[in-house]
Amino acid sequence: MENKNIPELFGSMVFGDDAMRARLPKDIYKALKKTMQRGTHLEIEVANVVANAMKDWAVEKGATHFSHWFQPMTGVTAEKHDSFISPCGDGKIIMEFSGKELVRGEPDASSFPSGGIRATFEARGYTVWDITSYAFIKDGTLCIPTAFCSYGGEALDKKTPLLRSMEILDKAARRILTLFGNTSVKRVLSTVGPEQEYFLVDLEAYKKRPDLMLTGRTLFGAKPSKGQELEDHYFGALTPRVSAFMKDLEEELWKLGILAKTKHNEVAPAQAELAPIFATANIACDHNQLTMETMKSIAYRHGLVCLLHEKPFAGVNGSGKHNNWSMSADTGANLLEPGETPFENAQFLLFLTAVIKAVDEYQDLLRVSVASAGNDHRLGANEAPPAIVSMFLGEELTGILEALEKGTDYQNSKNHKMEIGVTALPHFPKDTTDRNRTSPFAFTGNKFEFRMPGSNQSISDPNVVLNTAVAEILNGFADSLEKAESFNTALAQLIKNTYSAHKRIVFNGNNYADEWVAEAKSRGLSNLKTAPDAFGALTAPKSVVLFSKNGVFSEAEIHSRYEILTEIYLKTLHIEALTMLDIAKGSIIPSVITYSGELSQTAASKKACGAFDTSLETFLLKSVSDLSAKLLKNLTALENAVQKADKLSSTVTKASAYGTSVLSAMNALRETADSLEAITAKKHWALPSYAELLYGVL
Ligand code: ADP
Ligand code: MG
Repeated sequence: MENKNIPELFGSMVFGDDAMRARLPKDIYKALKKTMQRGTHLEIEVANVVANAMKDWAVEKGATHFSHWFQPMTGVTAEKHDSFISPCGDGKIIMEFSGKELVRGEPDASSFPSGGIRATFEARGYTVWDITSYAFIKDGTLCIPTAFCSYGGEALDKKTPLLRSMEILDKAARRILTLFGNTSVKRVLSTVGPEQEYFLVDLEAYKKRPDLMLTGRTLFGAKPSKGQELEDHYFGALTPRVSAFMKDLEEELWKLGILAKTKHNEVAPAQAELAPIFATANIACDHNQLTMETMKSIAYRHGLVCLLHEKPFAGVNGSGKHNNWSMSADTGANLLEPGETPFENAQFLLFLTAVIKAVDEYQDLLRVSVASAGNDHRLGANEAPPAIVSMFLGEELTGILEALEKGTDYQNSKNHKMEIGVTALPHFPKDTTDRNRTSPFAFTGNKFEFRMPGSNQSISDPNVVLNTAVAEILNGFADSLEKAESFNTALAQLIKNTYSAHKRIVFNGNNYADEWVAEAKSRGLSNLKTAPDAFGALTAPKSVVLFSKNGVFSEAEIHSRYEILTEIYLKTLHIEALTMLDIAKGSIIPSVITYSGELSQTAASKKACGAFDTSLETFLLKSVSDLSAKLLKNLTALENAVQKADKLSSTVTKASAYGTSVLSAMNALRETADSLEAITAKKHWALPSYAELLYGVL
């Protein structure tokens, strides 16, 4: 590593601006850049030249195939590889890649979830190059980042709605900027920096845990004697293997042009975090998907497995993904950065109150954007924000908004009275108030940090909601301000009124406290505790109006997404329940029987010898027997719960049964099995223990 030239390494596997400039004729380069910046149509003549240059570049780097890389609604990425080879007579081949192949692909879409869309429309789907996201080489394949749609134009992926939401946010934000006299901005982009948490476990131990292999999380496992209580892992020194993994990972990510910046151990043992420098939302989303893929493949190289599940270990912190979000003009100005002058601050306050209103009005949509079976183990579990959406603004900013609302003095202000557009905001350095780590949606000086997303999920969903909701509110603001007789008066009124009407969403206290649950209820905030509780928010009339009016999702697309969410939830729990039953029957019961046999045999041989005391064996045998009987009861109860749920007629009722009766039967079975693990001789317990998994990577 020491001898490597990082700036040279960075982006070396990306057909980015440097490669384009070096390899494309000037006019083609210009045409391509224009298309990228304006989001206009790419002419086929241009595409042909670009494709050929891209292929030459990729072949020089050892690539043999190309692939349209896309993000179906499963949440992971998909790719189908085609080689560049093309016959040219005499049984010979040449390497070819056309503009048509670059711009558009037709993967067989029938096996990707569509939530019923394809049944009513066309069976096939196609992929289109997202020209704003650079092509890259991964494992000898030139990957073209694409959006995936049905023939009717319905989105079948996570990227299309994200691009649509970015477009409407751009337009809405520019309407506001124009009102402030700012007409030089050509584009407003949503910016995102996702901090990614993950666990690393040893590959050999992993292979002995069917629960980890099949479900990504441990379904059994007694608590180790040392958990995370010493908090000695957070920012702790890296073990040699983890350190080697992280170095390799960073290097690989840099080659892919991903701005991996920070790495450190997290709170839980075996847990770590990687944060990139923020990028435009669609690129941040592509990069986060690539980061997750790369983490898994690099871990494997080091004899490790990277666990991205939200809760791989019970009793130990789970993994999330902090979605840092802001809006940025193409001039570089961050629209959520407090300004220097009163006028700039008025603009800042308007964008800020737009976010406050958007989060309050669409809190349920934000909640559903992070709802999954995995994330249900985190949200509300005193390690992650609760299922209640609220916002942290910090005492100073809240104080300023309060003073504005009431027309009173702001205590820290040198000005006598705070007036929008007239007085400058008092300087409030970023860290004057303690960072509130318990808040689901925190203002951190010049961006918001949405902390509810799970480690495993695509960040597309939460950003689609954020962009769309904020765009909707900004458009409403623009509608009223454009009509106003006096811009300044209307602006001041709008900021005050909006804050007044939506300040219930602002909460600077401890979100983990029980009192907050009661307080939030009295404020009328919703508390959708589980994923199935939250899914309905997606198809609520208010959501349908928001999305369809703004052209982000058609009604059919919303319903398809609702169906897919429910289906994935159901399948996840179904697989977990069956895996538990398999492990209980195939591994735990045999372990317990062997141990009981050993105990009774020892007791019997002692007795046969005469005067030996067998109280220990008898005591253990009784404990094992009692728990075994309970285990059998729990196991049967789980089997019955599964059978009963499977008989239900609709996916929705099944999902709800799995989320309640099946899940609680799973928890009961686990509790008994974990008690058995604690008293059974280690050599008889086939599953590697929590201690081995959590402390085994040295
Ligand atoms: P903190 O330590 O407060 O969490 P960092 O500066 O480490 O803040 O940033 C955390 C993440 O937020 C990083 O990924 C960073 O790139 C990202 N970030 C910073 N500014 C912005 C912004 N304007 N928009 C989106 N993300 C941002
Ligand atoms: Mg953070």
